[in-house]
Amino acid sequence: HQLRGCKLTQRRSDLRENSPSKCGNSCDTRSHNTPSLKQYCNNTVIPTLCCLTLTLFGYVSNEKSLNFKCMVFYVFSLVKKYAQERIAPFVSKMDESSHMDDDVIQSLFEQGLMGIEIDPEFGGTGSTFFSSILVIEELAKVDPSVAVLCDIQNTLINTLFSKLGTAEQKDKYLSHLSTDMVGSFCLSEAESGSDAFALKTRAEKHGDHYVINGSKLWISNAEHAGVFLVMANVDPSAGYRGITCFIVDKDTEGLEICKKENKLGLRASSTCPLNFDNVKVPEKNILGEIGHGYKYAIGMLNEGRIGIAAQMLGLAQGCFDHTIPYTRQRVQFGKRIFDFQGMQHQIAHVATQIEAARLLTYNAARLKEAGRPFIKEACMAKYFAAEVATLTTSKCIEWMGGVGFTKDYPIEKYYRDCKIGTIYEGTTNIQLSTMAKFIDKEYDY
Ligand SMILES: Cc1cc2nc3c(=O)[nH]c(=O)nc-3n(C[C@H](O)[C@H](O)[C@H](O)COP(=O)(O)OP(=O)(O)OC[C@H]3O[C@@H](n4cnc5c(N)ncnc54)[C@H](O)[C@@H]3O)c2cc1C
Repeated sequence: HQLRGCKLTQRRSDLRENSPSKCGNSCDTRSHNTPSLKQYCNNTVIPTLCCLTLTLFGYVSNEKSLNFKCMVFYVFSLVKKYAQERIAPFVSKMDESSHMDDDVIQSLFEQGLMGIEIDPEFGGTGSTFFSSILVIEELAKVDPSVAVLCDIQNTLINTLFSKLGTAEQKDKYLSHLSTDMVGSFCLSEAESGSDAFALKTRAEKHGDHYVINGSKLWISNAEHAGVFLVMANVDPSAGYRGITCFIVDKDTEGLEICKKENKLGLRASSTCPLNFDNVKVPEKNILGEIGHGYKYAIGMLNEGRIGIAAQMLGLAQGCFDHTIPYTRQRVQFGKRIFDFQGMQHQIAHVATQIEAARLLTYNAARLKEAGRPFIKEACMAKYFAAEVATLTTSKCIEWMGGVGFTKDYPIEKYYRDCKIGTIYEGTTNIQLSTMAKFIDKEYDY
């Protein structure tokens, strides 16, 4: 609404009728020219000035890296601007059609947001994990589906290739992942969800290649993916120690990307089953070591949970930001509904919960980046942020009254989108069990 210069009280149906040019601001979304993350970081004058400002006002206490400070500034200003100009106008249409707009994906690549931590040598932005978290939060304020595309690419796929790839694998994939290729992470199966390492997909060695047979379920971004990281067992007699990570290109014979799920929320994010029917992959497509797939999956999901926490945090904040202005305009009993003490106490409570989720998320990201133990904190952040997103979106609908329950405002979409936060990358129960394991050990004198 802010972007389009339209009054918040205007209903979305009115907005849809308005062509961009009728809507105050010029909103031909495809012609906006927001500087990309890479361009911004390559400019030495503006980041230096912004770093000085940040240091002066105490936001950055010591001289760490220019890149980090530059990123903080970038996210709070330019990613926000980019998301409002290049994503916001498509959110409702993408949700209704259950399809991610190709131009939106393209613009993420152009902005350098799909290869945030990838080395510039491979066309990436060369920034940090914390930066990825800030970007995911900012994107989720506008569309949690776009945020999860960016999240999986940065926190799972790119990291696995960067950490484990051979020189040849990095050359072949990283330059594409940072510029034009989406990747998918394939662990879950029909019979192995929370119990992920009970997976049945099998990879059998035949000479210098492996043949993969089995199926995967719930694979995010599969509709647009050019490469799949597939966990398959090369030696079921070794149990989970047989699980190995394979790089499977989209056009490999025998790989079938099946019909996407018809979901409650995150509708623009494709979630598909995959079938592997004698899929032949060369031995050189093993990522990392044979039998270490379970370690890689656990490691990546531990980090990835901080990304999901950031997604839920951004979602809650985005929903809150859409709602509060309405409560400040809507008049009942002769005054703004914001002015009723019963409303104020609820609003202040939710604002506090969002801030607490932010601090948990940033703390987990900070610990991870500093190389310190972070698994318990990542679980806490994901668990809590998902709870806060559920509370916030539910309250926002109530605070908006009847209009909050309609599709004329984006609140009901945030309400639908938030539910996934308690399910993927480890359900809430699994987060709580993991935390409890750590707490138990802490008291093991
Ligand atoms: C939209 C979406 C996108 C996804 N994207 C991906 C993806 O890209 N890649 C991928 O590999 N997977 C993906 N997943 C799969 C996701 O990670 C799993 O759905 C999740 O791990 C839960 O597994 P499940 O659905 O089989 O539920 P189950 O494991 O069957 O769980 C059902 C219920 O039982 C509870 N439960 C299970 N075990 C325990 C226990 N030990 N203690 C207490 N409670 C327990 C759970 O908490 C839950 O409440 C996605 C799922 C969805 C819905």
